[in-house]
Amino acid sequence: MRWMQLTLVEDDPIHYDAAFWIDYCRRTKSDGVCLSGGGCVAFYPTEIPFHHRSAFLGNRDVLGELIDGCRKLGMTILVRTDPHATYDDAKEAHPDWIAVDAEGKPRRHWASPEMWVTCAYGPYNFEFMTSVHKEIMTRYRVDGLFHNRWDGNGICYCVHCVENFRATTGLELPRTSDAKDPVHLAWQLWRQERLFKLLDLWNSSIREINPNSHDVPNGGNVALNTMGAIELTARAPMLVADRQGRSGLAEPWLIGKVAKEYRAVVGDKPVIGLFGIGLEERYRWKDSVTSNAEIRIWVIDAIANGMRPWCSKFSGTLHDERWLAGVEDIYVWAEKNERYLTHQAPLVRIGLVYSQQTAWYYGGEQAQAKVENYGLGWYQALVESRIPFEMVHDKLLDPAHLAAFKTLILPNIAVLSDAQCDQLRAFVARGGSLVATHETSLYDEKGSRRKNFALADLFGVDWTGKSEGPMQNSYIQLEHKAMPHSPLFTGLEDAPRIINGVARLEVNPREKFAETPFTLIPSYPDLPMEKVYPRAAKTDISCLYLRKPAGRVAYFPFDIDRTFWEVLSADHLKMMRNTLLWANDEPPVFEVEGPGLLDVTAWRNVESITMHFVNLTNPMAMKGPYRDFFPVGAQKVRLTVAPGVAVKGAKLLVAAKTIPVERSGSALTFTVPSVLDHEVVAIEI
Ligand SMILES: [Zn+2]
Repeated sequence: MRWMQLTLVEDDPIHYDAAFWIDYCRRTKSDGVCLSGGGCVAFYPTEIPFHHRSAFLGNRDVLGELIDGCRKLGMTILVRTDPHATYDDAKEAHPDWIAVDAEGKPRRHWASPEMWVTCAYGPYNFEFMTSVHKEIMTRYRVDGLFHNRWDGNGICYCVHCVENFRATTGLELPRTSDAKDPVHLAWQLWRQERLFKLLDLWNSSIREINPNSHDVPNGGNVALNTMGAIELTARAPMLVADRQGRSGLAEPWLIGKVAKEYRAVVGDKPVIGLFGIGLEERYRWKDSVTSNAEIRIWVIDAIANGMRPWCSKFSGTLHDERWLAGVEDIYVWAEKNERYLTHQAPLVRIGLVYSQQTAWYYGGEQAQAKVENYGLGWYQALVESRIPFEMVHDKLLDPAHLAAFKTLILPNIAVLSDAQCDQLRAFVARGGSLVATHETSLYDEKGSRRKNFALADLFGVDWTGKSEGPMQNSYIQLEHKAMPHSPLFTGLEDAPRIINGVARLEVNPREKFAETPFTLIPSYPDLPMEKVYPRAAKTDISCLYLRKPAGRVAYFPFDIDRTFWEVLSADHLKMMRNTLLWANDEPPVFEVEGPGLLDVTAWRNVESITMHFVNLTNPMAMKGPYRDFFPVGAQKVRLTVAPGVAVKGAKLLVAAKTIPVERSGSALTFTVPSVLDHEVVAIEI
């Protein structure tokens, strides 16, 4: 339920305090631990040639000492290995262990230039690391091994990779990094196969020694990961999601998204949220400590979204202790309330679909812009709306996996096979609803564009073959007259028009739609200002197609979700939310009213229904799109005035009332009781 990871650095054996860390595990009530074993550096007296013992190890067994201490606390123990780099002696004896670049040169390590990058797909991992893992398991019989940076560093041109890739595919290694290149795609599949074979080998070789042990690979991102999430998570009893903290202006709910993405594929297995305590960014401040508030909101949102926390500390030597009390505080609270936090089933009816194959075969190197940003738009809209939801992997659309859901959202899920579309059709036939956007189902499972949507029958429209975008200065008309008081206009009752998205497909309706709430106001010139007037007062081109074949289907032929993520217009939020509620057409799981940005989740557990309200309201939460104002309390002011100035009184110009002012010599003191958005004090002289 609560994990602690201590990643040792090479000189820790002479600097760090083992007793402190074991005591910290005790104080934090951690019940699982991950300790550094070997790979780049061995922290025990290894007997394996070229397995580099820490130069500071002496005769000690640091790993063994930590394991002993943690065993006394009854903890579950994983040992960490990291195989991604090695040294000159290994390279001299086994040059084929080293990764080779496109020019045929062995790869130096980018950060530690005395080291070499190893090839993840050949004998270094398959033979050398397998023997390291067996040695660790034989010596310590721990509960499992955890692998960091085990999955390679891009394309390797070593002799084994050349031969293995050719033997498997008949192809030469790709020379391009274009993710959509067919040879690169073949390499990606080959790489996945190699790495899954590797995990199977590592797993079986430690289980021969300790049948109760298991391999746990480090997993990072899901939606944009180049490894198939289903195949990866099938190989481990639990999933460790390495998402250590924010980067740049990352949205504070991002860790919860990772939890939902993994839960979509792991079923009942635990999802572990690996968090860091520092601020890394690409400058890799590995020994940094960030603010307690930042650590705290990240971990709390992870727990609220069903993750078990895993605190990852690099270096046993403490350069900065400011994080210790904060993490202890969260862990102690989590232990005290464990019976309410052992989350079983999320209370949801809405699923947000994500598609790795769309990222690979349609997004390629632009997967963030062309795929992920659509999903992020919906994620933000759902959090803002306090609508509970889970994420759904597009390879798991069978009735059992969809049983909990009334409505699926398909945010530009462009790549869908015919079989997947049949599953979606069956879902709607069973009474399920869909909300789909933009190019959903326009591409087959290999990323080839179809002539028409595979889901054209559900959408009720055919693609004409034309698309438009980026559109400048285009709008959406709200057809209030045709549909007075429609719930699709909730919150937009006074809006005659709202801004459009940026990219749209031209479609022909197959039928006469009963309701056309939103119509297109086409782009018109945005300069010179004299020319900025709509050329067509009105069109009958719909921006939203609504059908009720069995369940309900809503199709936006444009990128409302992607545009929302870019611009965060409140009008788009309302249009998306109203459409989703129209599709879902049943009483909500819960409603939460009140100001602020909250990530609200609810769980059915053995002994409780547990609801989390994570308050993300914070001036730093988002960049600038305000929804509300949150009053701040009293501001006490002391102001110096010139001695001859007579003060008659003071009033607040926004609150429109007078306030008392005290004078002492040249000093005026007064209090502004509260500021919502703005207050002005006028001192009358
Ligand atoms: Zn290689």
